[in-house]
Amino acid sequence: MTLKSEIQVAQLSELSDSDRQLVDLAIEATSRSYAPYSHFCVGASILLENGVTIMGCNQENAAFPAGICAERSAIFAAGAQYPDQAVVALAITARNTKGELIDEPASPCGPCRQVLIETETRFKRPVRILLYGKNRTFIVDSIKQLMPLSFTEF
Ligand SMILES: [Zn+2]
Repeated sequence: MTLKSEIQVAQLSELSDSDRQLVDLAIEATSRSYAPYSHFCVGASILLENGVTIMGCNQENAAFPAGICAERSAIFAAGAQYPDQAVVALAITARNTKGELIDEPASPCGPCRQVLIETETRFKRPVRILLYGKNRTFIVDSIKQLMPLSFTEF
């Protein structure tokens, strides 16, 4: 038996209107990033089951562990404002140190992947994830595609 991940590769023009809007919102979120140390401005956007969208962006801090990634800032904001709404989809992108949108998609760090696993478990539904770069967009139907054999208490 072999375990394989399925990652769809698409161009922005091939995305559905809903997915494209979520990517556009993630791009907008990069302008709200607070990244005076890395100058790598990450934007995230999530679509909730009730249709509400929420933006997140990385928030850095001189005491480095105190900062947070764009993905988690969006998910935790959603949890605070709409605790009963499942996360349906998440889009992520970033601007490089020159302020340009990244060419290749950036993918979530380990802790964000772990939070996404628990988000899926909590709401009993997968989160569609769109990783946008100018050259291509990676699409997965669940964080499990990016984090197989993950730790879970459930
Ligand atoms: Zn992260």
